[in-house]
Amino acid sequence: MAEKYRICITLLSLLVVCVCLMKATVEARLTQIVQRTRFNGPITFLAVGDWGRKGAFNQSAVALKMGEIGAKLGIDFVVSTGDNFYKHGLTGVNDSAFTESFTKIYTARSLQRPWYAILGNHDYHGNTEAQLNPALKRRDRRWNCHRSYIVRAGFLDIFFIDTTPFVTKYFAKVNKFNWKGILPRNRYLSNLIRDFKTSLRTSKATWKIVVGHHPVRSIGARGDTSELLQLLLPILQANKVPIYINGHDHCLEHINNTGVPIEFLTSGGGSRAWSNVSHRERLKNNLKFYYDGQGFISVQLTRRAANIVFYDVYGKPLHTINLKK
Ligand SMILES: [Zn+2]
Repeated sequence: MAEKYRICITLLSLLVVCVCLMKATVEARLTQIVQRTRFNGPITFLAVGDWGRKGAFNQSAVALKMGEIGAKLGIDFVVSTGDNFYKHGLTGVNDSAFTESFTKIYTARSLQRPWYAILGNHDYHGNTEAQLNPALKRRDRRWNCHRSYIVRAGFLDIFFIDTTPFVTKYFAKVNKFNWKGILPRNRYLSNLIRDFKTSLRTSKATWKIVVGHHPVRSIGARGDTSELLQLLLPILQANKVPIYINGHDHCLEHINNTGVPIEFLTSGGGSRAWSNVSHRERLKNNLKFYYDGQGFISVQLTRRAANIVFYDVYGKPLHTINLKK
């Protein structure tokens, strides 16, 4: 009898170990980075997108003001919303564009913090794996770029999601995009959606922010991304994500009250802007702010409140959002 009892206990223990291991594997599928934060202090970061032009189109001017605002706020890190290197990403890990568009541009002391980047559609024109390669971190220790990943920063979790493979029209231009590591596309997307859902659902963070290159909602030149409205928005909604940040449209904008309690923020003014094309009639009742020009945003979070500010190329605050938990 005692022998049977021992076997039962052993089998039960094995089962518990297996379930724990399975759970750990499921939860750990997206790469996770832990960002150090100040004890009980606010978490502060800047977000900029669509920037890498070797300083041209006011990239350097935006960088200068990012440095000043970054110092004033004492930022913890910087988020890049993608289209990091124009016009065709990087050619390889030794591409000089990395130094000329990143290291030599964002030189302010306050910006010598970790940068968390994702790929944009222009990055997919080049050697995507070069931007993801740890060798770049050896060239500039600030650089962190993965396709989809989580940055855990105290009471904040930021979920970076690789939105370019969602966009169907890009797959018609087979030779323009580097789909290495993405095909077959359906499998890539279904795995990503599954892992993204699991990560959001199991996150214990007070604030969950999602960052993607493409907008879910936008009145800019490019507008809404229908694939994200269909596939991503329901997940953001189900997991009560309060803030989605994107680039792609070369502007600054804030859209809300679209039927879901999500603030949609575009920060795509890192260099070339002034497209002079917008579609204000599409979301005229939901548009809180739109600036067809260069700039960036700051996000400052405490456990109970969020303060978000949009700045132009002169560092002038143009629009502020205050949210409460
Ligand atoms: Zn883009």
